[in-house]
Amino acid sequence: MAIQPEIPQKQNFINGEWCDPIEGQYMDTYCPSSGKTLASLPASTGNDIDQAVEAARTAFERGAWPNLNPVQRGRLLAGLGKAIEDNINQLAELEARDTGKPLKQANADIVATARYFEFYGGAADKFGGETIPYLQDYQVQLVREPLGVTGHIISWNYPAQMFGRTLAPALAMGNCVVFKPAEDACLTPIALTGLAHDAGFPNGSINLVSGIGEEAGSALASHQDINFLSFTGSSEVGSTVQAQASKNHISCTLELGGKSPQIVFNDADLKMALPIIVNAIIQNAGQTCSAGSRILIQESIYDEVVGKLQSRFSKLVAGPYDQNHDLGPLISLQQKERVTNYLKGVNEDLILARGEIASSASSSGYYFPPTLIGPLDPDDKLAREEIFGPVLVCIKFKDEAEAINIANGTRYGLISGVWTRDGSRQIRLSRKLNCGQVFINCYGAGGGVELPFGGTKMSGHGREKGMEALKEFSQIKTVVQYYGE
Ligand code: NAD
Repeated sequence: MAIQPEIPQKQNFINGEWCDPIEGQYMDTYCPSSGKTLASLPASTGNDIDQAVEAARTAFERGAWPNLNPVQRGRLLAGLGKAIEDNINQLAELEARDTGKPLKQANADIVATARYFEFYGGAADKFGGETIPYLQDYQVQLVREPLGVTGHIISWNYPAQMFGRTLAPALAMGNCVVFKPAEDACLTPIALTGLAHDAGFPNGSINLVSGIGEEAGSALASHQDINFLSFTGSSEVGSTVQAQASKNHISCTLELGGKSPQIVFNDADLKMALPIIVNAIIQNAGQTCSAGSRILIQESIYDEVVGKLQSRFSKLVAGPYDQNHDLGPLISLQQKERVTNYLKGVNEDLILARGEIASSASSSGYYFPPTLIGPLDPDDKLAREEIFGPVLVCIKFKDEAEAINIANGTRYGLISGVWTRDGSRQIRLSRKLNCGQVFINCYGAGGGVELPFGGTKMSGHGREKGMEALKEFSQIKTVVQYYGE
């Protein structure tokens, strides 16, 4: 089973077949490194979504997928993981061309995508229900069942990984899925869907419909015949889709934005911390929900830390995906304008360092130089809002209490990094930080297939990754049985 690095099928995939959009409308997708058009893809409508949901419903009610033994489902999932690994170079090339990320990062993303299918393939026959003690002569079983048809809407920043992250656990539990990739990054999900078909996933178990959010996304989120919605994207659209789904009493997981702090105390091992802190903001050109986009520095080491960051930032280079620079371009012209607007009017004295754009980079690409800013007041808009670009904001703090206040002081709560050698402080902070993941003397922006992931506050709710995701994509049925005479 092999795929080409060429543009994959430019169609929707419904009920095991590639098909054109019913209304015949298409949308263009661009290469962020060059600004050139890459492909024209279905701009699907509610009618295509209806067809896909119907196919998934039929597959769930009468098809093979939910009735396979868990071990068989697991083998198919793991087989897809292996097929992804076998096609790593082609998939990485496609992912990098479509999103602009450097090839070496795209490679790592494809490895992680394969790992999702391997992990949930292994988990499919290991996650069951429970019994609970009840009255004399009663047996109570909590049977874990699939939800039915699950809808999946994702953002453009990690299309391959998110295909694995959201679909693998849903499929492992026996659900049939309808997937809508983001308009700016559909190509790898389309290629992965083709690989899944070749790997033997039954018709209707995986359906993919591309299209713009307000049309195809909205039709899926508000569809009366889905049983669950898994959404990854901005906090604003998260509110919209949650409202749409709740009209039909459909529950959802919302994996949304962040403004994650890296808290550096004066006893931190800076040699270990700083390269990781820099990587956590330039990875994917800062377009990572869990990017460490604020660095909170204890005031006694502020100048030292900023000096070291300045020297690193001024050497960073953004360039085309196939030249493996420190970072690639942003995803789109619109995203470049958004980041540029955030920095418009910022006092030049606050710009501590700017990296470069490679001389080989096309002037029509969407490049933005990595930028270090500070010191900023924690209430400054740039210190509170998700810029979603390679911009690291420096903030000073006096003591632990102030660090916690600043860290918890935005509307987001996705992940946090804590850098200190003090063991008691590590525990105190891990308890007091209001977010879904805390990394102590390490940082895993986006990493860890095994690690439950999700947010608090406007970063969303529900958990994906790890065994927790299997709970989200299943439901408990309580069976009470009287066995007395
Ligand atoms: P977005 O919210 O604009 O779009 C996300 C998806 O929603 C896309 O597929 C889009 O087509 C769809 N959509 C847009 N409007 C819709 C509507 N009215 N109804 C239904 N669907 C609609 O987000 P984006 O710009 O693609 O991604 C960036 C955001 O995603 C950032 O805020 C980032 O932090 C967040 N993100 C979060 C995670 C996480 O796991 N927490 C991971 C990646 C990205």
